[in-house]
Amino acid sequence: MLCPRCNRPLKSKKSIERGIGPICKKKQAYEEFLKNQMTIFEVLDDGNDHDTLQDCR
Ligand SMILES: [Zn+2]
Repeated sequence: MLCPRCNRPLKSKKSIERGIGPICKKKQAYEEFLKNQMTIFEVLDDGNDHDTLQDCR
């Protein structure tokens, strides 16, 4: 079995069970975190009008 991100062979049983290598799993988790932050930011930005944003400065 190969890691779907880096195409390196997965050697450990845990990695094979997860379907991704440990380093790529960390990278993926970090990207998910960034993606979620971005989503939250976009949601907040859509929810606030400019008057409300200026109140926070
Ligand atoms: Zn990988």
